[in-house]
Amino acid sequence: MMDYVFAPNSLPSVPVAGQAARFPVRRIFCVGRNYAEHAREMGHDPDREPPFFFTKPADALLTDSGDLRYPPQTADLHFEAELVVAIGHGGRDIAPADAQGHVWGYATGNDFTRRDLQAQAKKAGRPWDMAKGFDQSAGCGILHPVSSIGARDSGAIRLTVDGIIRQDGDLAQMIWSVPEVVGHLSSLVALTPGDLIYTGTPAGVGAVKRGQVVRVEIDGLSPLETRIV
Ligand code: MN
Repeated sequence: MMDYVFAPNSLPSVPVAGQAARFPVRRIFCVGRNYAEHAREMGHDPDREPPFFFTKPADALLTDSGDLRYPPQTADLHFEAELVVAIGHGGRDIAPADAQGHVWGYATGNDFTRRDLQAQAKKAGRPWDMAKGFDQSAGCGILHPVSSIGARDSGAIRLTVDGIIRQDGDLAQMIWSVPEVVGHLSSLVALTPGDLIYTGTPAGVGAVKRGQVVRVEIDGLSPLETRIV
């Protein structure tokens, strides 16, 4: 057994539908601007961009319907409803035609963003890490195994704030499909079991305030509800 100078932190993990065992998380990758209308609302031409990626620390996960403490150093915390893809079989240079065999399951997710810090970073040509990878920034619902629900390439994706619909799209509107995202990402890094991929958000992103409840719903998956405190 390995000896450490202090007890290591517990492994970040996500609950799994219908079983006590949890999915152990290794890394969190996120796709930027993967829905055309959202790319336009952020001021970009969606037709000319290959997919690009950013990351969040695995211990930024917010699971089990936990409350989100409004993060420091921002006055513009945004929600982003996203389909989360969990990788069960690793690989590099995965062909899109083979990608589905690498997917373990799916969850609803919320890519919480300090939009003001992101705008400053973009303007200065600086990294997005502190805009995207802060504590509790990776909301993730219960994971549903592919073995029980099959592949997800279409279906409604919706977000409400205090019951009012703010984002209303369909997974079929993704510019880069899940197999294409897995293909692109695995050409950049070797994917491993335990990796999560946030696949981008539809149009309608906006701010959320203390006291509000944000709910992400995707057809066939458990909803993810987060209270901002
Ligand atoms: Mn996002």
